[in-house]
Amino acid sequence: MHDIDARLGRIRGDVPPQAHNARTIAALTSNPGCARRAIMDAAGIDKPRLASYIGFPAPFGQSQFAITRGNAFEAQVKANGCAELLRLLREQLGLPIPEVSYDDLEEVGGHRSQHLRHARTRSLLTRAAGAGGDAGTLFDHPLLRLDVGGRPVYLEPDLIAFRLGGRFHVVEIKSFAVIDGQADGDKVAAAAIQSAVYVLAMRQLLAELGTGPEAVAREVVLVCPENFSNRPVATLLDVRQQLTVLGRQLSRLDRIESLVGLQPPGLTFDLELDQAGVPHRPAAELADDVRTVPARYAPECLASCEMCFFCRDEARGQTAALGRAAADELGAVHSVQMALGLADGTLTPADDQAEAAALLREAARLRRECLGETA
Ligand code: SF4
Repeated sequence: MHDIDARLGRIRGDVPPQAHNARTIAALTSNPGCARRAIMDAAGIDKPRLASYIGFPAPFGQSQFAITRGNAFEAQVKANGCAELLRLLREQLGLPIPEVSYDDLEEVGGHRSQHLRHARTRSLLTRAAGAGGDAGTLFDHPLLRLDVGGRPVYLEPDLIAFRLGGRFHVVEIKSFAVIDGQADGDKVAAAAIQSAVYVLAMRQLLAELGTGPEAVAREVVLVCPENFSNRPVATLLDVRQQLTVLGRQLSRLDRIESLVGLQPPGLTFDLELDQAGVPHRPAAELADDVRTVPARYAPECLASCEMCFFCRDEARGQTAALGRAAADELGAVHSVQMALGLADGTLTPADDQAEAAALLREAARLRRECLGETA
């Protein structure tokens, strides 16, 4: 473990690591075959900063206004020991929650070390799990841990877990609006997969204590502002499907040790600043280092990874950039140039390209027919 930590530290350079969160894990599992992202995330690379420095700034990130609004909404829901949240759980969801105790796990005795916070989370959840009945206890900012690519990753969720009827429930607070009972489908889908990450992490924690997965409910409580006000509304969201996908994708992630072992020993994405306040390594040199780690670009990256514009540029002309469905159909035909050559018959397919070549020739014939061209 120490070797791999030292190696990841060298890759990151002399800058603080970026923490994983549910969004990064959800994004990582959306492209489990990408070694570049896996290594960057394991090393805690600041991908938005790196992408920007090498000339391909990411299209992600919330505006300061949205961040402030989100924080204010979350503080409102959690104020006074989660009084508003309890009202929602009782009135809107009809949950018979009696008097509760409230534990904030954001720090332990004034300390914020991840190790301490995780130990405290573990200890309190263990106690609640063993309490039996409706302990009805709320846990704010529990620090969870999930195994990602063979390495434990701490999760810093802004969530609350509560226990009811012998089961824990995850609460996710989001600042996107529910208008007339409807919310933006993409935002709900993203919230569902992120909540599933927390459910999985809680299940892993409780499994270490010998508790089955049923100890954490697959329905999460999604709390959002209603209509155009700041008034919160709660909805139950079933994340069963997301849990299945997440479990499958996490199991497909290669082990970080193996991936790192395949990279050049001197590899680093060090963004340390010089005295003038700019990274001391030239951008072109850093970009060359990024290219040495294999990527697996697909158009879906545009919605989930801060390196997407760099990787899209690099993948230009490759069939992978056309999307997974096209790339799967084309099999061993890796470049668009080659696909065009096979389609018009100017290239002869290798044995492993014969099937794709036949499809391409047929597609070209149909296209000519539609356009009224003669062969
Ligand atoms: S954008 Fe690049 S680094 Fe990110 S997942 Fe896609 S291929 Fe990998």
